[in-house]
Amino acid sequence: MQTDNTSPITINIRQNTGTYIAKAPGLKPTASCSTGPLQAAEALAKKLGLAPGLIQEQSIGGLGYGCSRFSHSGELATNTSDKAHCPNCGICHTRTETCNEAKARVGGAV
Ligand SMILES: [Zn+2]
Repeated sequence: MQTDNTSPITINIRQNTGTYIAKAPGLKPTASCSTGPLQAAEALAKKLGLAPGLIQEQSIGGLGYGCSRFSHSGELATNTSDKAHCPNCGICHTRTETCNEAKARVGGAV
């Protein structure tokens, strides 16, 4: 799966019997979390290989009960630490290689 480095991604959350389910329109992976909508959105962002900590809640009306919407800049996660071992994906790579590329390189791509 390829995502553009710069296109923003929308993450929709809906609640189903106490579980928050995160989905990004047009993208296959989903994530669920019972802790809260933000945690579900973060779990999906991690699955998609997006940079952590860039999720923003969108305050929009008209969403059903238990539904919320988040957005992400679409920036992909990379190794921003000073260590060879990436804190995001656990693979040794540099900051010029995204975590998705590192995962594909070691054969663990989703
Ligand atoms: Zn990584």
